[in-house]
Amino acid sequence: LPASARPHVLLLCSPCMGHLIPFAELARRLVADHGLAATLLFATATDAPSEQYAALAASMPDGVDLLMLPAPPADALPPSTPMPERVMQAAVSAVPHVRDIARSLTSTAPLAALVVDMASVPARDVATELGVPCYMFFTSPWILLSLFLHLPELDAGLVGEYRDATEPIRLPGCVPIHAHELPGFLLADRSSDTYAVLLSLAKDATRVNGILVNTFREVEPAVGEGADCVKGMPVHAVGPLVWTRPVAVGVNRELEHARLITWLDQQARGSVVFLSFGSGGTLTRRQTTELALALEATGRPFIWAAKRPQEDTADGAFFGTERGGDDDPLGFLPRGFIERTSGVGRVLLSWAPQTAILAHAAVGCFVTHCGWNSSLESILNGVPMVGWPLYAEQKMNAAMLEVHAGVAARVNAAGPAGDGFVCKEEIVSVIRRVMDGDEATTMRKRLDELRDGGTHALAMDGFSTLTLAKITDVWKSSTSNGES
Ligand code: UDP
Repeated sequence: LPASARPHVLLLCSPCMGHLIPFAELARRLVADHGLAATLLFATATDAPSEQYAALAASMPDGVDLLMLPAPPADALPPSTPMPERVMQAAVSAVPHVRDIARSLTSTAPLAALVVDMASVPARDVATELGVPCYMFFTSPWILLSLFLHLPELDAGLVGEYRDATEPIRLPGCVPIHAHELPGFLLADRSSDTYAVLLSLAKDATRVNGILVNTFREVEPAVGEGADCVKGMPVHAVGPLVWTRPVAVGVNRELEHARLITWLDQQARGSVVFLSFGSGGTLTRRQTTELALALEATGRPFIWAAKRPQEDTADGAFFGTERGGDDDPLGFLPRGFIERTSGVGRVLLSWAPQTAILAHAAVGCFVTHCGWNSSLESILNGVPMVGWPLYAEQKMNAAMLEVHAGVAARVNAAGPAGDGFVCKEEIVSVIRRVMDGDEATTMRKRLDELRDGGTHALAMDGFSTLTLAKITDVWKSSTSNGES
């Protein structure tokens, strides 16, 4: 069918880059493989698009229209409002725009479905009004989806706070989730607004027609073992969906990135350590210094997608002589670090071409916060991970990647101070475990299996592609029959 006559899918993503990347890939597949047209709406929380958003927007595949919805008024919430409530506010204020756009789309082509993320479920009302199915695309792993769908029942059975529980949460097919591995939103007091928002989202989640989840059987075997229905909700694994296109980075950056790849070309196979803590992860100043010293101590080549550290009053005073500021953007690193590691390591301050780096044969270890996109990208490129989770559901992901999938070793952040600080010796030792010796060999074997599984899931006759084909056939047939 010509693009203009194809049934249309409207996708709505809340203001998180980590959601937008797999949403863009899902939209690309709906267009390229399943004969649909796709419009992807991004419900931003702020008016100014970020550098990352601009880069992604400039790299959208043919046939996918990306639109940024207007942000809610800047003064609608007090500045101290926590992130989950901000995201929810953006999702709620997106609904009238989604309605207008959906109506205008139906004037030219049939609307086949609305696909929302976990925060955008309020837009489901638009699908109901227009008589089309509403599906959720869950961009995190199945273990988090399972926890999310079981939340109302866990809440009803819990006395006290999740963080004080002495027994882990045991969900079918998942690693036991210990109190210290819980996602951030479960660490909030149960009487807090943040928790109330999450609990209501979890209750609402069971009111969509089905859930697509960005995972695959080999990495989370539970999805292939009868877990296709959780709490009465049909759940379909359609992953691993990672960004497959080169991201536009702007003229100055293109040169910088080309130089980086040339530098990688000169490194020995599997020798380079790549470090990145995702789109938002930052370390404290003291931890940044310790990590820099550890990298130097390993003597291995590295690429570090670094971020200016969080200010940390005690350490800020301790390192009072440090440089910093716009005229010296790397001034937060230990004195002389850049000079001493010149030629051996590269520090990037802007958006790193992560998928291109992980795809390079010289990279032998990924020190990651275990965001789900980063984890999938590492698996699909066969790169063993050092799991250094920071926030959100990352501790749970790290546990699953180490204990169930066998492709990561976690840093030990349980030092005597109880502040999550990871010392230099531990960083050096965990990098060694992942790169040299028997444990590293076992990890690489597991990665080969998982990479093959993930690649096959996405082939034309693969499990995830066929699953998506079945679902899109239902969407298409209901548009042609005029059914809802
Ligand atoms: N990413 C990137 N360059 C960076 C940082 C992140 O390309 O400098 C990409 C990364 O490849 C991944 C996504 O941003 O696709 C981060 O998603 P993830 O789920 O790993 O973490 P989040 O940012 O949501 O915490």
